[in-house]
Amino acid sequence: MKVILARPRGFCAGVIRAIEIVERALAKYGAPIYVRHEIVHNRHVVQGLEKKGARFVEDLSEVPDGAVVIFSAHGVSRAVVAEAHARNLPALNATCPLVTKVHHQAQRYVAQGRVLVLIGHAGHPEVEGTLGQIDGNVHLVQTEADVDALNLPAETRIAYVTQTTLSVDDTRSIIAALERRFHEVVGPETRDICYATQNRQTAVRQLCQMCDLLLVVGARNSSNSNRLREIGEEAGIPSYLIGDETDIDDKWLLKVEVVGLTAGASAPEMLIDRVIDALSRRYPVEISMLPGIEENINFRLPAELSTT
Ligand code: SF4
Repeated sequence: MKVILARPRGFCAGVIRAIEIVERALAKYGAPIYVRHEIVHNRHVVQGLEKKGARFVEDLSEVPDGAVVIFSAHGVSRAVVAEAHARNLPALNATCPLVTKVHHQAQRYVAQGRVLVLIGHAGHPEVEGTLGQIDGNVHLVQTEADVDALNLPAETRIAYVTQTTLSVDDTRSIIAALERRFHEVVGPETRDICYATQNRQTAVRQLCQMCDLLLVVGARNSSNSNRLREIGEEAGIPSYLIGDETDIDDKWLLKVEVVGLTAGASAPEMLIDRVIDALSRRYPVEISMLPGIEENINFRLPAELSTT
């Protein structure tokens, strides 16, 4: 059996930074450190940090007075920041700088008097955070039909921003629908799409031309991992999202000659190694890797942790 690894795959700079913020905070302030929401959407990462003394909570009311709290990579609403401030909780912000960039861009558009449309998935923590960062009414759209259903006149001055884990390809048709419906539509120069989402999706499209089964390592609640699996399906290849090697079903592997393997932005490389080991226990395996793009992006840590 051949196994071809996508490149790039797995951890992005935003996830690496978020994990490092928790680790450095633990080293500097000592355990326990409270983290609002999973720092990134991966059980293995979360459990690893829990072992070191991180406590994951969904609501700030679960954080004791005086404890250090960290906001996850997905970002938070202003109400959450204000609540931490009101309670004098020492807060560190692990929001990915690319998500923060979307918040700023959205605020600029609103300040220009435009009506803001957010393209994203309802209920996703990043979308909740972005909605809560913007003054005034924001219209969340998930599909072209949502655009058609917007109860706004055609001459409305529209601006849009997008959830970072949607690719340019994911948002293209929705942006086109906005442009059909409204006379004046503006969006960010480079879209709000993050480099990591785009690069992982591009790599999976290439991979799908070479394999007859796609395995995506990632969590069920990871938006970008789900999207990678869908891309495999769109390419006509049986595609499965697996949390780790224990999710592999032997039936999937019958008559498969080439397995394509990738990982979402919050899945550690250690899980890829475990999947390869699991496949090697079943079949003789020959591993190769797509040439792909090398990523050299690093995000700065918050000032209070950068010298720890
Ligand atoms: S996927 Fe992109 S936006 Fe999300 S944490 Fe990673 S770099 Fe940041």
